[in-house]
Amino acid sequence: MALTGRKIIVAGGGIGGLAAALALRRHGAEVRVLEQAGEINEVGAGIQVSPNGLRVIEALGLGAALRARSCRGRAVVLRDHREGEAVLRLDLGRLPGGQEYYFVHRADLVDLLACAARAAGVEIRLLQKVRDITSGDRPALELCNGDRVGGDLVVGADGLHSVIRAALNGVLTPSFTGQVAWRAVVPNIFGHPPEVHVHMGPGRHLVSYPLRDGSSVNLVAAEERKGWVEESWSHEDAPENLRAAFAGFGGAVPAMLGAVDRVGLWGLFRHPVARHWHAPGVAILGDAAHPTLPFMAQGANMALEDAWSLATCLASDADQAAALTRYQSRRRDRCARIVAAATSNAWKYHLRNPLIRGAAHLGLGLAGRLAPERMLRQFDWIYGHDVTSIA
Ligand SMILES: Cc1cc2nc3c(=O)[nH]c(=O)nc-3n(C[C@H](O)[C@H](O)[C@H](O)COP(=O)(O)OP(=O)(O)OC[C@H]3O[C@@H](n4cnc5c(N)ncnc54)[C@H](O)[C@@H]3O)c2cc1C
Repeated sequence: MALTGRKIIVAGGGIGGLAAALALRRHGAEVRVLEQAGEINEVGAGIQVSPNGLRVIEALGLGAALRARSCRGRAVVLRDHREGEAVLRLDLGRLPGGQEYYFVHRADLVDLLACAARAAGVEIRLLQKVRDITSGDRPALELCNGDRVGGDLVVGADGLHSVIRAALNGVLTPSFTGQVAWRAVVPNIFGHPPEVHVHMGPGRHLVSYPLRDGSSVNLVAAEERKGWVEESWSHEDAPENLRAAFAGFGGAVPAMLGAVDRVGLWGLFRHPVARHWHAPGVAILGDAAHPTLPFMAQGANMALEDAWSLATCLASDADQAAALTRYQSRRRDRCARIVAAATSNAWKYHLRNPLIRGAAHLGLGLAGRLAPERMLRQFDWIYGHDVTSIA
């Protein structure tokens, strides 16, 4: 196997790090994952796995296992906030070539990848927080406990606040978007169908979809606001604040929000895509390279694509430096385009002026009825991409 004997350290055991560890191991590398958390699958809520991310899961041999632990999405329905009436329905069953779309709990996807990685021989070490890195022929990570861990290659998959991105690019300052988002998981006592529902109101919107066997519902609610909120996956808020922000919403929203007893809140920030994705003996992927706003639901999917692409580039070129250059050139433009699309989507669901909102909803409804295929095909460049077919 092409990477037999290569010692690779992956910093961060999230979705991208674990997928990369597994893919690299399948090419014969000796892989160790260093994760700061004490448990591999702690917090998190829903993730959408679109056809482009699913192809990587399939290629890793985990398609059936993912399907068994997730809900297949049938449609995306945009709804007006007042009574919840449908403005536009996009039937995901009409995606070209029978492409599939899934809703999965982040903890389940992380668990799936971690079990497969361990079974393949990847060593996963918990409570290992990386503090710094030295790049070069023998790159080494410095841990917060004072240990140093070296190898032939270090992969920085340490997420949003990556120390490895900072070592390669300097500290890149994000800018607050003026939006915050809550996320919660509630029991599906409302018979929520296997669809994404986007409830659109002035200055805010709420996205709901079922998880697992359909027994729970994932909620993500975004609101425009001036005050700054920390960019963190572990910041909690009072459920009353979420209910108050969406008090004017009708349809299914009051019942769904009434069921919330625990909610996370995070500030939405725009981050520049990292300019340098590699240095001698080092590469970064996923949120470490290109943190994104959630409005295209592509964070996890891009991380999966990166993981596969990095492993393929390394396995097909004995010259590691050349392989890393190829990896960045394959991935950076695509990810930058997706991040830009997510940024420009941010305001679309939030129209405040009732006349403009009414006209926009009318236009969407008409387009959905007259040209449903065309509405879906606008996402072809994202969903149709098959990173596993690129040698
Ligand atoms: C706790 C948590 C909950 C999340 N919940 C959601 C959610 O509900 N919905 C959603 O769409 N997205 C969520 N995300 C983000 C989503 O998983 C990522 O945007 C996407 O999957 C990209 O994957 P990634 O592997 O690049 O980053 P992540 O999946 O964020 O993984 C990064 C990993 O690196 C670890 N790490 C970070 N810094 C260090 C360090 N210094 N040393 C060692 N390890 C480190 C983190 O603990 C984490 O396990 C969450 C991320 C985290 C970390």
